[in-house]
Amino acid sequence: MTLSLKNIIPVIHAKWFGESDAMPIDHISIDSRSLQNGQNTLFFALSGPNNDAHNYIEELIDAGVLNFVVTHVPDEVRGQANFLIVENTLEALQQFAAYYRNLYHFPVIGITGSNGKTIVKEWLNFLLGPDYNIIRSPKSYNSQVGVPLSVISINEKHNLGIFEAGISKVNEMEKLEKIIKPTIGLLTNIGSAHDEGFANIGEKMKQKLKLFSDVEVLILHKSKTVETFLNPKIKTFSWSCKYENADVFIVKKIIVDKTALKVKYNSDDFEIKIPFLDDASVENAIQCMMVLLHFGYDPKVIENRMSLLFPVEMRLKVKNGINNTTLIDDSYSSDFQSLKIALDFLESQKLYKKKTLILSDIFQSGLSNEELYSNVSQLIIANKINRIIGIGETISQFKNKFLNCVTFATTNDFIAAFDTLSFGNETILIKGARHFRFEEIVALLEEKTHETVLEINLNAISHNLNFYKSKLKPETKLMVMVKAFGYGNGGFEIAKLLEHHKTDYLGVAFADEGIALKNAGITLPIMVLNPENTSFSAIIQHGLEPEIYSIKGLNAFLKIAAQKKLEHYPIHIKLDTGMHRLGFEQNNIDELIFTLKENKSVIVQSILSHMATSDELTHKDFALSQIELFEKLSSKLMSELKIKPIRHILNTSGISNFPQAQYDMVRLGIGLYGVSNDPDEQKFLENVGTLKSIISQLRMIPIGDSVGYGRRFIAERPTKIATIPIGYADGISRHWGNGVGFVMINNKKARIVGSICMDMLMVDVTEIKCKEGDSVVIFGESPTVIYIAEQLKTIPYEILTSISQRVKRVFYRE
Ligand SMILES: *Cc1c(COP(=O)(O)O)cnc(C)c1O
Repeated sequence: MTLSLKNIIPVIHAKWFGESDAMPIDHISIDSRSLQNGQNTLFFALSGPNNDAHNYIEELIDAGVLNFVVTHVPDEVRGQANFLIVENTLEALQQFAAYYRNLYHFPVIGITGSNGKTIVKEWLNFLLGPDYNIIRSPKSYNSQVGVPLSVISINEKHNLGIFEAGISKVNEMEKLEKIIKPTIGLLTNIGSAHDEGFANIGEKMKQKLKLFSDVEVLILHKSKTVETFLNPKIKTFSWSCKYENADVFIVKKIIVDKTALKVKYNSDDFEIKIPFLDDASVENAIQCMMVLLHFGYDPKVIENRMSLLFPVEMRLKVKNGINNTTLIDDSYSSDFQSLKIALDFLESQKLYKKKTLILSDIFQSGLSNEELYSNVSQLIIANKINRIIGIGETISQFKNKFLNCVTFATTNDFIAAFDTLSFGNETILIKGARHFRFEEIVALLEEKTHETVLEINLNAISHNLNFYKSKLKPETKLMVMVKAFGYGNGGFEIAKLLEHHKTDYLGVAFADEGIALKNAGITLPIMVLNPENTSFSAIIQHGLEPEIYSIKGLNAFLKIAAQKKLEHYPIHIKLDTGMHRLGFEQNNIDELIFTLKENKSVIVQSILSHMATSDELTHKDFALSQIELFEKLSSKLMSELKIKPIRHILNTSGISNFPQAQYDMVRLGIGLYGVSNDPDEQKFLENVGTLKSIISQLRMIPIGDSVGYGRRFIAERPTKIATIPIGYADGISRHWGNGVGFVMINNKKARIVGSICMDMLMVDVTEIKCKEGDSVVIFGESPTVIYIAEQLKTIPYEILTSISQRVKRVFYRE
């Protein structure tokens, strides 16, 4: 509806200054950032404790806004627009909304209560949507500002309004009542949320009931408490599962995963089923059904529509967690009443008997902390919670009120200790006030499900790291090789974990890899194995440490170092002791010494070499000769240059097979990722990566039909074929197709049939009970990367590093 300033000025009792009061207004705004602000916008300049919209008027005028409701006209904009001056801009907005509401004459449902307002509103919108043009509050716009904004959105098309009203102190509801003017009232569950603003429950009740002072009918759950406060003149339409004299009497019964409601209303007797079990949802659903009954819907229609109700809120999400856990995610609120509801929900949803509660400080109770946490403790005991994890300063103070309880001052403290708190085979309720960011806890606990993912078990990495550490002398330092994205497992995340474990050094192959880690915030020193001369500048800029393996490279680096006037920049000298890949040889050691002597711009941080046969004991003599040569050349460097650098020669297999050559540091690679070249040692390692996908499609094919390109598989029996969305572009070798390889589905082997395609492969699941969407393991515990490598006559390193970067890496801790 288009109004003009002339209509609005008397409504909000404004004095006005400006060019024209005939200006048409079709948009109301309080948000200076909104892109919808324009010529026909009336902007209400609200001012709060932290922000005063009067400051944005100049900007808004530049953006074309011409009409403002203000308490004063700022000097710099005087005379530049139409100004409606009022005493209080919020009150003016409310007065305008009330006036606007009165221009329409259709039924309006006004909802208040402590819990369930938004769900009931959303459900009613769904249930009545087929028959009405509904205007409803967006999200939970139920405040002193939200309600007027909701109402102002009414237009001529609407024929039903659903608005929720929320208050936190006395004297707020009168104002909302004038704006909503409900014809039908709906009182949802009255709990103890937002108690602070009210002296007691009675006062809160009285205040809330003010929304209904002028309704034609009030729908409510029959209760003695409400009745004591209710004006007897208000006509009610009540329901109860307890009092048979309610207008509608209901008997609840749980049937597997649904709740059946036997409804007795006048002469009607009917049954509906709703897809919820918890008390809160059932109560909200009944409130909605009452509205449908009031509107005279046929029980058949009610039954049908109610069976389709769906979960609405951000609250109380049930998720699969890591390690056989069920998560109940209620990471958005924390008050006593909603805790009660959540605990009910936990009980109704639990898959595992053991129950854990992760709880933040509780707000808005109106009680002293002492009383509040005593009540919480009783509630938790009554709900048979096995373990409590309290997060927050206040709950930490009351730790002794709870049994089997650990507390943390902050969510970050909890996250830091996550590894020490084992979670498994339990149902976990995660309940915290918004600002505790419990969604981060949910993210840690949640099971990762994507179509094709490489799941990385960070616990296994820690385990493997500790296994190799246990083989080292206490003083031996550890460099971990994270080249090629951490052997395909994810560079940054693993580097972060290694930083946490206080690893001494990281090693990467190329400068880019190191730069990416530094940019991501890794602070550990990083050695670059294979720096190109062109990358030296970038290496220095990012504080990376180059491996220098030739005179040419050394001179190039020294030149740049001199230009940049570097002093004692750490470099690593690589010696070739028999690998014949990179490194100074015996016959250029003298030149190396000559060049480095007296040079102040660099310092030899370490001397290293690499073994060709540390994993093959048939070449043990060769390995020993390499170590011997390393000893000789590095000693010479050290004595002639008078330096004491870190010396290192061992990779993973070297750590296992040549413990006497640990020197000052070792370089751990593949072992960290759970692969050993020694079958005995393998038993002590944990599997790190699991490559997973799902079944996209299942089909039966008859005898004689073929599968895939080139018809390389022909069915010799009626065959059930599953298609998996992973192919050679993801790093699955084509040699693994055509009956050679298999994947695991529901713990059974499924042979790959036909040729592996670029993005897909097909398997024979004739003997396997499975359905579309089921999980598929390509490698992990079984088949292992080692097994696949053996079959394909390659090494695990190649299998791991071939997994393409388009496969999402998902990290989890157990
Ligand atoms: C990759 C690499 C390592 C680690 O080898 P693993 O066999 O994976 O332990 C050690 N040193 C150098 C120079 C490397 O290139």
